[in-house]
Amino acid sequence: MTGMATDKRDYYDVLGVGKTASADDIRKAYRARALQCHPDRVQGDIEAKKKAEAEFKELSEAYEVLSDGGKRQRYDRFGHEGLRGVGMHDFSHMGFDDIFSMFADILGMGGQGGRGRSRGPRRGYDLETSITLTLEEVASGAPKTLEFQRQDLCDKCNGSGAAPGTGRRACPTCGGYGQVARSSFGGMFQAVTACPRCHGAGSMVETPCPDCKGSGRQAVNRKVEVKVPAGIHEGQAVRVRGEGEPGEGGEASRGDLHCYVRLAPHPLFERHGNDLYLRAPISFAQAALGAELEIPTLYGPDTLKIPAGTQTGHVFKVAKKGLPDLQSGRKGGLMVQVVVETPTKMTGKQEQLLREYAKTEDRSVMPESRGFFEKIKEYFSSSKPAKEE
Ligand SMILES: [Zn+2]
Ligand SMILES: [Zn+2]
Repeated sequence: MTGMATDKRDYYDVLGVGKTASADDIRKAYRARALQCHPDRVQGDIEAKKKAEAEFKELSEAYEVLSDGGKRQRYDRFGHEGLRGVGMHDFSHMGFDDIFSMFADILGMGGQGGRGRSRGPRRGYDLETSITLTLEEVASGAPKTLEFQRQDLCDKCNGSGAAPGTGRRACPTCGGYGQVARSSFGGMFQAVTACPRCHGAGSMVETPCPDCKGSGRQAVNRKVEVKVPAGIHEGQAVRVRGEGEPGEGGEASRGDLHCYVRLAPHPLFERHGNDLYLRAPISFAQAALGAELEIPTLYGPDTLKIPAGTQTGHVFKVAKKGLPDLQSGRKGGLMVQVVVETPTKMTGKQEQLLREYAKTEDRSVMPESRGFFEKIKEYFSSSKPAKEE
């Protein structure tokens, strides 16, 4: 279980480009900003590096969406909501090197990726999706069906990208090395970077597979059952192992799917940790004389006894009617705040009774007002009133 920032920034703001930016503008903006975040370029302590890493992940997420025509269109129309179930990469769970090799052709640095790597085939990337839960579902835990899209290996070519029966040939751009020398910073440096044509592989397919056009991937719609544990909090994620993208070459293990939880607003209750808050209106007579109130809880109706002389705003705690703790299962409380409502319409008889009551009223016995009048007396005896203009 892990947390994430629930408030995502606007992707165009993140990259610092306008809404009408071209694909090329977006690529350049991403490259310029992402390279500033590279650990080798960040000056300062571990905190500065951590901040840069978070920034780099945010940039990469923005770039993933805005560089993809379909995702960008959905984002433009519906905002972050429009991307639910699209099978976005979960950068928050990825290391720096993974993201750098993912975007090696744009960033021009392979990280540990490319041909020189000896770690063996890379594990599949993690994906993220989200679900919205009601408080009732949080209270009891719930099986939920997740629907999302991911990129799987193409069936026809088994992920190779080559048309069946054809092979690969050395990349003509890098001559099979997977790396090219490129001058950067206005020609001041010669940097060796991943080959933009073969993305560092050194070879390319002779004839692209007709189904996936050489990408080796195809979009697949998945449905997965997850058991959401009782007591889960907004922003936490349920990890579904092995439901991310396939590993490199189809040999390495799949990535995971992280399903982030959101809470649907409840018409009655507000959640604070494992406690729930409820506002219950009561009448002046109920507050003054005491009453037994019918109150709703997530677990069915209940009664709350309020004593005579209850003040407006007072909070009563009903034990064990809140949400279960994620770890211990122990339930929080239901906090009921009573609010005294002043009648706006009274019958003739009610008004008459209240006027009778008012005649007998001795304001000085009311606890709140006694304090107030004492404060006023004290105030006038100890301070000089300000001059009026
Ligand atoms: Zn294919
Ligand atoms: Zn190449």
